Amino acid sequence: MTKPYVSVVIPVYNEQENLPALFSRLTAVLDKLGKPFEILFTNDGSRDHSLVLLQDFYRQRPKQVCVIDFNGNFGQHMAIMAAFERARGEVIVTLDADLQNPPEEIPKLLAAIENGHDVVGGYRKDRQDSWFRRYASRLLNVIRERTTRIRMRDQGCMLRAYRHNIVEHITASGETCTFIPALATSFAAHPAEVEVEHAERAAGTSKYSLYKLIRLNFDLMTGFSMMPLQLFTLFGILTSAGSLLFVIYLFIRRLIVGPEAEGVFTLFAILYFLVGVGIMGLGVIGEYVGRIYQEVRRRPRFIVREIYEPLDD
Ligand code: UDP
Ligand code: MG
Repeated sequence: MTKPYVSVVIPVYNEQENLPALFSRLTAVLDKLGKPFEILFTNDGSRDHSLVLLQDFYRQRPKQVCVIDFNGNFGQHMAIMAAFERARGEVIVTLDADLQNPPEEIPKLLAAIENGHDVVGGYRKDRQDSWFRRYASRLLNVIRERTTRIRMRDQGCMLRAYRHNIVEHITASGETCTFIPALATSFAAHPAEVEVEHAERAAGTSKYSLYKLIRLNFDLMTGFSMMPLQLFTLFGILTSAGSLLFVIYLFIRRLIVGPEAEGVFTLFAILYFLVGVGIMGLGVIGEYVGRIYQEVRRRPRFIVREIYEPLDD
């Protein structure tokens, strides 16, 4: 059977309104390429009719479509991971199902791969999201640039292409809480970035609540940097040194001037602040410990209910 040249990987969570347009636009682009391809959809526990539509796509093109049906909602990155395990293409492209990443941009990514790059990230030209998402994302990109060694312009853009060997390293890494573009960038020998168009979500609403977005960014931070822990150690050292000086000063003052009882509220203010920082530090440690716990339990990262495999020629 012919091995596909490109595998397109799409995570799907309650996207019934977007799937028909996505499939027709995507197949139009891929047919025009003139090279063998496959499309892998992971149904990430959708509760709408997404699965029925995906099964229908499989029926239409059983040699080119693969559908992985999850037993529940395991998150976008696990949905991509499951498809990565089965992707056979020399090049693997990831894409969102909501048409925010135009499929028409795929040839641009493939051109960069053919120029010898092993990881090609897209960055979004005038991003079409709420101002809150845009500014939060800009801030998070800055924090990530400063605290990790992952260099990319737009961490939130999922329109990306990888050589097969990079995807093999990603699937072999076996992490539960991870961030695929960052993982890929850390394995890349010769990465590149290209500008891609970005559209408003065609239909439906974002599948990321504020809480899920925060969790995802914690995965990115804890997965790729120790700096949050190191900052707390550093802050601890500085406050202890400061406190020691203060103790010495108070001791000497007491010998010379006598005991003091004023400034109690100032003292409380400082104390509350330090207690707050301390609790935050515990939380940061907790984020790491919780993730270590999750990894050591070695539970399956995702559970597949059924796979509709592409048929041989
Ligand atoms: N998605 C998923 N599982 C989830 C959340 C999202 O498979 O738990 C998919 C979703 O169907 C879409 C992509 O991941 O194809 C990106 O999600 P979304 O567009 O909601 O994110 P946003 O663009 O708002 O960041
Ligand atoms: Mg989207």
